[in-house]
Amino acid sequence: MTRIGPIHPVAIVGAGPGDPELLTVKAARLLAAADAVVYDRLVAREILTLTRPGAQMIFAGKSPYNHHMPQEDINSLLVRLARSGQKVVRLKGGDPFIFGRGGEEAQQLAEAGIPFEVVPGVTAATSCAAYAGIPLTHRGLAVGVHFVTGHCQGQSELPLELNWAGLADPDSTLVVYMGLVNVESIADNLIRHGLAPETPAAAVHKGTTAEQRVIVTTLAGLPEEVAQARLRPPTLFVIGKVVALAPQLSWFRPLQAAAVDAAQ
Ligand code: SAH
Repeated sequence: MTRIGPIHPVAIVGAGPGDPELLTVKAARLLAAADAVVYDRLVAREILTLTRPGAQMIFAGKSPYNHHMPQEDINSLLVRLARSGQKVVRLKGGDPFIFGRGGEEAQQLAEAGIPFEVVPGVTAATSCAAYAGIPLTHRGLAVGVHFVTGHCQGQSELPLELNWAGLADPDSTLVVYMGLVNVESIADNLIRHGLAPETPAAAVHKGTTAEQRVIVTTLAGLPEEVAQARLRPPTLFVIGKVVALAPQLSWFRPLQAAAVDAAQ
């Protein structure tokens, strides 16, 4: 591609968890100005309509089980688009620096000498918890929170190498991204390392959207409940005493959100 004018910084942008209103003002501004948008599977449709007519929309379609475009191709695409003088937005679900491989893309840009900026997004942990009525920290219940992945990317055959002894902490909240495939081993390991089987646990499917489903159970009951409900990705687990607040604090009514969507 021939270079036409200056190189613009590539914006690595978080699109939030699903509810399009959880997009940042900065993300909306960059999208409206972009010449090319490279986006992932978990980005809400409504957000894609914030681009200008004529902007090039490129689906990179990554999900834990189906890598539509290999990471190396995405990296070189970003470099190529930027070098051709286009304003490029790399749009990723949630926050780009939380289990989003945004760091790897930033490294490739840095190595290629392409300037970039990173726009944080509302990540699944905080947003799914908020929409399920689960404060991730709460006085007397949780003094901290861990975010972990329940799936080793590209290494699904390997056992999960997590610091189970550290994670089996009754005084902090554990949030597991991409945990569906390994839900049994996650629950087993936590219980074997001392976390009580009756510790409250939640699974949030498609959090913050009109299709949100929340299952509140116990750590021991989580694998069975998740299987019975046939939950598919994207699903997030929240494990810890704070989950007991969900029945009192859950405020989000997905069906009402669906009715609003339909009326618009
Ligand atoms: N960068 C993203 C995470 C990407 S990894 C972020 O910051 O949120 C993909 C995983 O995130 C999914 O498997 C699921 O565990 C979680 N996730 C993302 N969006 C979700 C949603 N709306 N509801 C439930 N889980 C979600």
